[in-house]
Amino acid sequence: MQQDLTPATQHLIFIGGGHAHAIALLMMAMKKPAGVRITLISNLVQTPYSGMLPGLIAGHYNFDQIHIDLGRFCRYAGIDFIEDSVTGIDPTNRTVQCLNHPDFSYDLLSIDTGSTPDLSAIPGATEFSTPVKPVRQLLSYWEALQNKVMQGDDSQEIHIGTVGGGASAVEVLLAMQYKLYKMLKKQQRSTDHLHFHIISGPQQVLPSHNPRVQKRYLKVLQDRNIKLHKGFRVSQVKQGRVISETGQTVELDEIIWATAAQGAGWPASAGLECSDNGCIRVNDYLQSLSHPDIFACGDIADMVNYPRPKAGVFAVRQGAPLAHNLQAALTGQAFIRHKPQKQFLSLVSTGDRFAVASKGPFSLAGDWVWRWKDSIDQRFMRRFSDLTELPDQTPGTQLKIENPDMRCGGCGAKVGHSILNRVLKQLPPPPNDIEIGLNRPDDAAVIDVPEGKLLVQSVDSFRQLVNDDFLFGQIAANHALGDIFAMGAQPHSAQALVSLPHASDEIIEQRLRHLLLGASKVLSACNIGLIGGHTSEGTELTLGFTINGLADRQQLLTKQGLQPGDKLILTKPLGTGTLFASDMRSQAQGHWISLALKQMLHSNYQASQILTAAGAHACTDVTGFGLVGHLHEMLNGSGLSVRLRLAKLPLLDGTLACLRAGIFSSLHPQNRKFEHSVLNIHEFDGEILTEVLFDPQTAGGLLAAVSAEQAEQVVGELQASGYSQACIIGSVRQEASDQVILA
Ligand SMILES: Cc1cc2nc3c(=O)[nH]c(=O)nc-3n(C[C@H](O)[C@H](O)[C@H](O)COP(=O)(O)OP(=O)(O)OC[C@H]3O[C@@H](n4cnc5c(N)ncnc54)[C@H](O)[C@@H]3O)c2cc1C
Repeated sequence: MQQDLTPATQHLIFIGGGHAHAIALLMMAMKKPAGVRITLISNLVQTPYSGMLPGLIAGHYNFDQIHIDLGRFCRYAGIDFIEDSVTGIDPTNRTVQCLNHPDFSYDLLSIDTGSTPDLSAIPGATEFSTPVKPVRQLLSYWEALQNKVMQGDDSQEIHIGTVGGGASAVEVLLAMQYKLYKMLKKQQRSTDHLHFHIISGPQQVLPSHNPRVQKRYLKVLQDRNIKLHKGFRVSQVKQGRVISETGQTVELDEIIWATAAQGAGWPASAGLECSDNGCIRVNDYLQSLSHPDIFACGDIADMVNYPRPKAGVFAVRQGAPLAHNLQAALTGQAFIRHKPQKQFLSLVSTGDRFAVASKGPFSLAGDWVWRWKDSIDQRFMRRFSDLTELPDQTPGTQLKIENPDMRCGGCGAKVGHSILNRVLKQLPPPPNDIEIGLNRPDDAAVIDVPEGKLLVQSVDSFRQLVNDDFLFGQIAANHALGDIFAMGAQPHSAQALVSLPHASDEIIEQRLRHLLLGASKVLSACNIGLIGGHTSEGTELTLGFTINGLADRQQLLTKQGLQPGDKLILTKPLGTGTLFASDMRSQAQGHWISLALKQMLHSNYQASQILTAAGAHACTDVTGFGLVGHLHEMLNGSGLSVRLRLAKLPLLDGTLACLRAGIFSSLHPQNRKFEHSVLNIHEFDGEILTEVLFDPQTAGGLLAAVSAEQAEQVVGELQASGYSQACIIGSVRQEASDQVILA
């Protein structure tokens, strides 16, 4: 992908990765305005495409097929992806608040966070039913329901019902029935104990569809033995039953809620003009009526001139005009009006690869309609999964940028004093035992090393690994601390070296704040803080740390010290090199990266304490040289060998898939030079797992040699402390000198 190096002067934030945003982001990625930083904040890495959800429930699709991988897509499109939940906005100060990140500042905002059924109005609905949205919650419930039925006793009756007679209620129930029957029949079990109900407030099903569709569906429900409770307006839900306004009761063991949708409460709380259902009122440009620098689309938006039902088809159609109008707002061009269609093609499935199509008064049905729907849906999803053709990153309309090529080098490249001061004030106060640090800034920090202690020092620096600065700050600090923990030392203090790409002061300040707050979060967890550093502007983001630690001489862990018979323990799984190389090429799945990031954020602090307490004979952290490179260092000159159990190596999800795809970190070929340290590598020719040995790690685990007697117990302690994949990967032998032997 061609990179836009124009300094960013405006920040466009998309909240929520709904259908409308997915399309708008796709279009904006194709022609990005120069000098605009684009961020997507989504609480999910993979957002569901609702049109295919009943197909997933019925078992026709798998999870990945019906989810747009936002993480992967954003990486491809050069958009910053932040995995977090937005909890509020401050339109006056133009900031966005999130659950797990510091505030983000914006110049322009777009909101597409969808809707959820309104359970609050009906007593008991929240406690005793499951809403169809959020979809992730519905899918967990569905998993549990399938287990309940499959592990249950066929003599026990189960009544399953959806509340709401609209398309989603009917589709979900039919899909569930289809799948449960199929699973039971496969085991030659009876289905007679399962009963299905639709509780519809109106006097018919699919009230927004034409009478032909309604008739067809009545027939389907009859044929499938699904009981329709018409005109049943639920007024109360109790454990195991729903009660109507007229006092009728339907016994239901499982209640799925699919009634009218409502928006989240935070837009209204922020002062945005909203309808009673919490949806943001927008004009024909999809612009908030009360806040012109905020746009909204999809279910969360109410177009005041064109009221429409909440449906994905409308959200998808809003994507293109939204992209245009956001570009126009950034560049001062004219907006275009969006007039949603009055009649739209509706394709409603019946779970069994059969669907009913309707538009206005027309209706068609059949297996072929399902295949038609399937091809439309798959085509839509391919727009986000087939990322082979790189978007044209040639900057679109140019924004006005003050002398982009006239930035100073040397000391003139320092980040401005006032920005730095404002950011530093927001960091946690430094620990008290610092002689001179940020508490009393001077030309250099001064550390009072206690008598009898050794000063252990390490330095590390990184290029940007992820487009989430707060996360990157945490990972970089965690990685840098790894060396101190590998030495069995106590961290004492840190200095940061930051280089930020040229941008407007506001953007520089936000990025610096996120980076340093991220780093401080990790440092504070180890009871240490920043005592100094240096910030400058450059062509790309880099972040480094000098970490100081203190250790008693006798407690110091070093790479040397392996003893015959020792067991080798690795505390964290391998694979970050290939995974992030794949991510850079948009070839890694978003959830692999999400899980890898969680591992990278896991501190080695506790592992170091456990290993020190166990009297580990040798220790190192697995980082850039890969497992074999670091083993080579441990073995060097020892005259010993390590027998490594290749199949036992703990791996991050997606590692083998990335290696099989032939994607290696740029450091991998260098690490391959340690091949000579593996005595019998030729015996494993062509075995992809051997590549893991040379994969460089960021914020990798500790690799320690522990006596055989203690090894199992140490692994148990590590696992109990959250290093869930910690394991014994080999043992120290006297079979060959300074060699790794694969087993
Ligand atoms: C079972 C079912 C089947 C359906 N089938 C169809 C159909 O066939 N055709 C059709 O037209 N419509 C269908 N719909 C309706 C359709 O789901 C919605 O109209 C559509 O999803 C709305 O899209 P959206 O762009 O508003 O946002 P959504 O697709 O709802 O996405 C919103 C996104 O924002 C994220 N988000 C939410 N809150 C936050 C937050 N605070 N911070 C960060 N991120 C957040 C969510 O995780 C999600 O990724 C169906 C609905 C259901 C429940």
